[in-house]
Amino acid sequence: MVLISHDISVVASLCHRVLVMYAGRIVEELLVKDLLQRAAHPYTVALLAAIPDMRVVRGEPLSSIPGRPPDLDKLPAGCPFAPRCSRADATCEAELPPLRELRAGQRAACWHPVNVAEVPGTAPLVQA
Ligand code: SF4
Repeated sequence: MVLISHDISVVASLCHRVLVMYAGRIVEELLVKDLLQRAAHPYTVALLAAIPDMRVVRGEPLSSIPGRPPDLDKLPAGCPFAPRCSRADATCEAELPPLRELRAGQRAACWHPVNVAEVPGTAPLVQA
């Protein structure tokens, strides 16, 4: 079964494998069982953080991803998520990250993936 949804919690409850898309591209692929602990693309991590749960305080704003998706007619040269990503650097803004294998069953298109110790070909993350 293939399910396409903007609700990652619905996908996680019904599917075995997840493909996360951003700006018309697959940015991460992983098994649902790894979603909470091993999500590596900052967009996937942000989607997970935006899922409300029982800890949400009534009246407080829900977590959201700042900014807006890019105009598909005017995609940047680098990573389309860069303007919204707290891990973005000059490499991200200049070069489109390829979708590459991080570990068995998981691929991500990101220069600085989260929850990954070291992936050949990724750039070291230098944060100010
Ligand atoms: S490539 Fe850079 S800007 Fe794009 S998601 Fe990864 S860290 Fe963020």
